[in-house]
Amino acid sequence: MQQPITTSPAFLAKPSAPATPEDLKCAADLKDTLEANAERCVGMAANMIGVHKRIIVFSDDLTGRIMTMFNPEIIEKAEPYETEEGCLCLESKRKTTRFTSIRVRYQDRRFKERTANFNGWTAQIIQHEIDHCNGIVI
Ligand SMILES: [Zn+2]
Repeated sequence: MQQPITTSPAFLAKPSAPATPEDLKCAADLKDTLEANAERCVGMAANMIGVHKRIIVFSDDLTGRIMTMFNPEIIEKAEPYETEEGCLCLESKRKTTRFTSIRVRYQDRRFKERTANFNGWTAQIIQHEIDHCNGIVI
């Protein structure tokens, strides 16, 4: 079910706790909320719908499908670059440093551990959403 988006800076500054299989409903809500905001948003973290759990969803540039990750962690990164990003919870854009290619360890919807490589735009979205899990807004 689509949920309202939280923009409170104090709430979003708090790091999220590890996600567990009890959070599958939250992950489904997060996906629904991203789909409902697809025109202005390419990824979301669970704290943006008011849940301090380490869950992210994003649209994968390669497949065009929405991917859900539980407890994602960047384990390798290469080729930093400067860029500007916006966020649903901010009025203006901010400068940041991102990495062109990243390797991510995460758990899938069955809580099976996986690792995968991402590049370019999809990698940038994932870095932005993992920052949200750590209480960082860009
Ligand atoms: Zn954001």
